[in-house]
Amino acid sequence: MRALSGAEEERARRLHAEAFVFAGHTDFIAGVSEGRSRGEKGVAGRRQLPLLRAGGVKAVCEHVAGDTPYFSTFAFRNIRPLQPTKFALQALDYWYSELEETPDWQLVLEAGDFRRAERAGKVAVVFGFEGAMPVDDDLGLLRMFHRLGIRSIGLTWNGRNLLGDGVSVGAGGGLTTFGKAAIAELNRLGIVIDVSHMSDEGTRDAIETSAMPIIASHSNARALCAHPRNLTDDLARGLAERGGVIGVHMLNMFISGSNTATLDQFLDHIDHFVRLVGPEHVGLGPDCMEQWPGDVYKTLWTGTEAQALQFHYPRSSIRWRSASTSRAGSSRGATTTRRPVRSSATICCASSSRCSEDGRDAARG
Ligand SMILES: [Zn+2]
Repeated sequence: MRALSGAEEERARRLHAEAFVFAGHTDFIAGVSEGRSRGEKGVAGRRQLPLLRAGGVKAVCEHVAGDTPYFSTFAFRNIRPLQPTKFALQALDYWYSELEETPDWQLVLEAGDFRRAERAGKVAVVFGFEGAMPVDDDLGLLRMFHRLGIRSIGLTWNGRNLLGDGVSVGAGGGLTTFGKAAIAELNRLGIVIDVSHMSDEGTRDAIETSAMPIIASHSNARALCAHPRNLTDDLARGLAERGGVIGVHMLNMFISGSNTATLDQFLDHIDHFVRLVGPEHVGLGPDCMEQWPGDVYKTLWTGTEAQALQFHYPRSSIRWRSASTSRAGSSRGATTTRRPVRSSATICCASSSRCSEDGRDAARG
């Protein structure tokens, strides 16, 4: 990329200042839950607001919960989520506390709240789910989460849920019958449907089923980077033809297919989509999150769940079931070993002193 001239840079800065910059996908909840679990307050206000203000970001769509591994749910491959409805409620409680402690956030419940936030000098925050597992099998729960402020829902994360198949399932499945019913209710409630992380079949089904425009909040172009998380040109066109928007993702893996990427490569994805579907259908989905080391996605995609679990959970809450103990069916359940065994990790119940002791053993292992 060539350097900008002085006049170009001035124009770029002016455009940026005048624009309503909306980060379509953030996951601050990981840091919020980690901080609040240690008794901290105003976590997102202290850690994120200065960065957002410095970057001229006026709104974010914050994914407070879902099928994702943030703090207490883990839906990847053979590890099932742990009480996703409970943890969604807990995350919302965390965030409502954050809003009370830091008045510089403005929760978005209707479209006018974006401009109200801007006029008040606040950063607008939309609450979303990344995966619909908190809804379980009950559209009544969906209505309750709408009442609690959820305004965007990714139908799945990488795995399978009751609405459909995520991108890692690989079985060719799209939306379920329940998933189609959920889309009708999401449309009625005015909750934005997000297809990032869905299988190609599920994305196609969602485009065809939804009466309202849908988004891919954080997805890049598969034509430039052949990663299954990225959108094919056909799906991008179909989404845009129905009025949808694609948020271009800033993760190296989805830009270049490796752990390193350049700004030019990132801009190439924007250029590609702008040429393909027009600028009104292209946005930013940076997927900002703190504390995830650069190789976490690599870990997720190569399926070494044990390593990912060690990252997402305090070591004191993880124990490892040895293959031999598991076969023997020990009455104590899992016992700790010095060598974690992949695919047989379990999470201790926090209220169990035995589990805690086992966890301490594991932490030493
Ligand atoms: Zn995601």
